[in-house]
Amino acid sequence: MLPLLLAAALALAPKPHIVWKPIPYGPTRKAEMAAYAERHYGIHSWVLHPKVIVEHYTASNSFSAAWNAFAANTPDPELHELPGDCAHFIIDRDGTIYQLVHLNVMCRHTVGLNYVAIGIEHVGTSDAEILHDRAQLRSSLELTAWLVDRYHILVRNVIGHNESLSSPYHRELYKPWAHQTHADWNHPDMTVYRGKLKALLRADARR
Ligand SMILES: [Zn+2]
Repeated sequence: MLPLLLAAALALAPKPHIVWKPIPYGPTRKAEMAAYAERHYGIHSWVLHPKVIVEHYTASNSFSAAWNAFAANTPDPELHELPGDCAHFIIDRDGTIYQLVHLNVMCRHTVGLNYVAIGIEHVGTSDAEILHDRAQLRSSLELTAWLVDRYHILVRNVIGHNESLSSPYHRELYKPWAHQTHADWNHPDMTVYRGKLKALLRADARR
């Protein structure tokens, strides 16, 4: 009985192939991130301890456009604050997974959750487009399953950007942004996504 249980506990989701394509994230950008975390979360640190995964789509049609936007470190148009937006991963339409930022570093991708969330971008312009792209969806689920196991993240804390306000981890000290979210990955589409993720995690546990 015990060896079987142990085997089940150790059968984690395998690490998918990941292409390391870092954006510039040196000491200056880290200091900007720590200052942002202080203003918005009351935490003076750029160090990420992941508890949440937020799924996004880029609202653009190419990996390079998204990578360039994140690398540029451009201030936001409202507060003119740095660092610029970024995400830890971008998944291209052919299923290639690119990693841009180390997983112990905060990225600015979801108002209210950057202090605790890994961000995964998908090249595309709608949830449906990604849900119907077999290669992209398979890579997305494999990457997310591996992260869930690696960081002991609960499946209910794998959320879409549009679900950000209902996360128990949501926190925003800048009041005008306390109810700000985006339209990408809404609740009905994330219900489908989480269903597929649970099925994959069950299959990995049975290996
Ligand atoms: Zn988003």
